[in-house]
Amino acid sequence: MASADVLVVGAGLAGLATALGCARRGLTVTVLSPAPDAAGGQGTASALAQGGLAAAVGCGDSPALHCADTVAAGAGLTHPEIAEWITSAAPGVVADLLDLGARFDRDAGGALRLGLEGAHGRHRIVHARGDGSGAEIMRAVAAATLSHPRVTVWTRTRATRVRLDPAGTAVGIDAIGPAGALTIEAGAVVLATGGIGGLFAHTTNPLTSWGSGLALGLRAGARVRDLELVQFHPSALDVGIDPMPLVSEAVRGAGAPLVRDDGTLLADPLGARDVVARAVWDASRAGHRVYLDLTGGSAELRATFATRFPTVNASCLAAGIDPTAQPIPVRPAAHYHMGGLVVDVDGRTDVPGLWAVGEVASTGLHGANRLASNSLLEALVCAGRVADALALPHDHVDHVDQVRVAGMPDRPAPTPPTAHDRLLLENAAGLYRDGAGLRHAAERMRVRAEDDDARLVATLLLRAALQRTESRGAHRRLDHPAVTVPRHTYVDLTDLDQPLTERSAS
Ligand SMILES: Cc1cc2nc3c(=O)[nH]c(=O)nc-3n(C[C@H](O)[C@H](O)[C@H](O)COP(=O)(O)OP(=O)(O)OC[C@H]3O[C@@H](n4cnc5c(N)ncnc54)[C@H](O)[C@@H]3O)c2cc1C
Repeated sequence: MASADVLVVGAGLAGLATALGCARRGLTVTVLSPAPDAAGGQGTASALAQGGLAAAVGCGDSPALHCADTVAAGAGLTHPEIAEWITSAAPGVVADLLDLGARFDRDAGGALRLGLEGAHGRHRIVHARGDGSGAEIMRAVAAATLSHPRVTVWTRTRATRVRLDPAGTAVGIDAIGPAGALTIEAGAVVLATGGIGGLFAHTTNPLTSWGSGLALGLRAGARVRDLELVQFHPSALDVGIDPMPLVSEAVRGAGAPLVRDDGTLLADPLGARDVVARAVWDASRAGHRVYLDLTGGSAELRATFATRFPTVNASCLAAGIDPTAQPIPVRPAAHYHMGGLVVDVDGRTDVPGLWAVGEVASTGLHGANRLASNSLLEALVCAGRVADALALPHDHVDHVDQVRVAGMPDRPAPTPPTAHDRLLLENAAGLYRDGAGLRHAAERMRVRAEDDDARLVATLLLRAALQRTESRGAHRRLDHPAVTVPRHTYVDLTDLDQPLTERSAS
């Protein structure tokens, strides 16, 4: 029988970095991963990250400038003190990753090569293997975490419910593993389950990212914030693959323009993501296909494309497109969730003993529109903070010191969203929304929201979108085009019983 102080749900960057941080501070950690092997980052968004990690490490840059860009992108909902803290910590995070052996791309003089992405005022994206940044960062972090003697990983195991003691403190997890249902108890539970892109018909996320951790937190009594704030990436490769391979913003940063099929230029390719995504969407609604087009521009970009962007190049070639000779078809796709479980600066949710980190959490960094390459950064900075807090004796329950396994045929494994529900959500809560569409979809989703985790999250997202009677950042209401007062929306399980009326965000 194993023993553990901390149980981490999810083996993406946030989960593994939290586990490593806790283990290095003397705690024993159990990590749950639905994948057969946690080392390769399978089923995580983290391993798919292309552009890299934002940090003010270049000449003429500073955390203050990085912070200002983050706050500007967040469209009034970013918490400036959180942005200041996380952007200030970024250079240290890069140093930590180098210590772990991350091999970032360097120029001929040995300095870190820094990429440029949309709405960043400086070249500040640290990247690896061209567009293989997430895979390299995960390789380095996973190697250190999985070899740590105080970390145990349970693969092929999916959490289905947070266990609460009579006082309402989280003391473990019900899960489904290879041998069936099981119960795992621990002194603290950390949800690190990633995003929700898989709830939408078109997404760049692993299809298993459909908000399972939000449902776990909600059913335990935690509040969620800004569920309606979903970032759509402007340039997913539009070749009929699900999930859609990403064509990194760094390709636009390197000089490839976005064009309509009639050859006319579309939008500032390095504008804010929401603006560019809507421009691409508008063009396709007007009957155009939209392309990223390297064919007419820089010969140097064409010559170096395969080495600078090997992941994108491989995705294009697999789809029968030579990106240096043919324009790359793109369309927007659900990419990142700004909303999430409300956490304090240490990652505590409203439920004692329950923590959240990474994309599933809402720290206040991303506001209404995440700045590119700020999420790997957030995952690493916040993982360190969660570990610091958990290492304090009062922040984990010390009377539970063992992982206990028992047959608990309790909650069935949640089912992923159906194709029908994914389309329903995307049609109602895609790049453009209106009250009638949101209400219609929420009514249809509600039927099974009580026992279906994906439907629960989708229903509450639709309700949150109804609450936000304004257009801000990634949230665009055709019936409420104006920006009003910056406020968060909050929903919880009790909202399921409320009538579907619009009310101002509170
Ligand atoms: C294609 C793509 C490119 C991106 N590029 C960048 C980039 O360049 N820079 C950047 O900063 N961000 C980027 N992002 C965003 C970034 O990758 C994610 O926000 C970040 O990796 C989230 O990390 P995470 O650990 O929170 O979640 P994930 O990495 O998604 O990991 C979540 C883990 O939780 C597991 N899990 C889920 N539910 C359960 C459950 N019930 N029980 C047990 N385990 C569960 C999953 O299987 C997975 O292991 C990109 C995202 C995508 C999809």
